[in-house]
Amino acid sequence: KAKESAAANYKFFAEYMNKENHSRLELESALRSAMKNNEFSLHYQPIINITNQKILGFEALLRWQHPHLGNISPEHFIPIAEDLGLINELGDWVFCHALEQLREWKTNISQEFYIAINLSAKQLQSNTLVTSLVNTIEEYQINPQNIHIEITETSVISDPEMAVKKLKKLRDIGFKISIDDFGTGQSSLNYLKKFPINTIKIDKTFVKSAESDQVDMAIVKAVLSIAESMDLAVVAEGVETKSQEKLLLGEGCKIGQGYLYSKPLPASQVKQLFNRKLRLVE
Ligand code: C2E
Ligand code: MG
Ligand code: MG
Ligand code: MG
Repeated sequence: KAKESAAANYKFFAEYMNKENHSRLELESALRSAMKNNEFSLHYQPIINITNQKILGFEALLRWQHPHLGNISPEHFIPIAEDLGLINELGDWVFCHALEQLREWKTNISQEFYIAINLSAKQLQSNTLVTSLVNTIEEYQINPQNIHIEITETSVISDPEMAVKKLKKLRDIGFKISIDDFGTGQSSLNYLKKFPINTIKIDKTFVKSAESDQVDMAIVKAVLSIAESMDLAVVAEGVETKSQEKLLLGEGCKIGQGYLYSKPLPASQVKQLFNRKLRLVE
């Protein structure tokens, strides 16, 4: 009996703590004050045309550095921000900062250059999302064509009809829509048919295993083939090795993102990437 309840207590305790060993309560209270304490920043990871190693754009990735708790992964704190009702404010902050950065880069980049911005499920449900995004592109005088909105399949499952409507609105305004982590959610193929998307991002788990696992390889091929017939762009996520790149190129995948090219970097370090091709090691 005592053993059982000790085990139950431990399980409770373990669930209460996240992977980085901060309690949920600790993270909640820290998150509530993170915005006013300036603890958020954006990192940018290049998205590469792998046929010529040119940078097509950057994905903005949110970072939270707490003075005592350290760096906390967005995979941990985004769901908490959603639960606490902080996600819209945080999402607006991300959008403003990414656009401000894009405007600063605009002078030395091409017309097609873009910034990819992640939207969470709760942001997509918000009634103020569209007006807020429109106000921000007007404020920073950014063409919505230069913004790729990334959503995941799991972020639309709670209300797919509403999501389709909202994404169509965004596409009509001129934003590009990408489906992130493609293949990891449910009804991926169904979403391809219903959602107004421009780009598929193949999840890194498939890219990672394509060389060693025939099924993962088959999935990568199938996604590329469907995308081609639907006239969608495909980005391979999590490209870490030359041999993965070679395999992707061989299958006709032209766009990649991953540590092979660059880790996500603060804006101050991104400037150096603009003036050179990205191949660092041969
Ligand atoms: P994501 O949108 O799929 O972003 C790609 C993730 O893969 C990033 O993790 C990136 O650092 C990581 N990555 C890039 N290249 C490689 C590689 O070669 N190998 C491996 N193993 N990983 C690679 P990160 O920055 O920790 O972000 C995790 C997730 O958090 C993102 O996944 C996205 O879903 C969410 N996220 C990040 N920033 C935001 C944001 O501003 N808003 C919202 N709503 N979600 C965000
Ligand atoms: Mg993303
Ligand atoms: Mg992804
Ligand atoms: Mg992800």
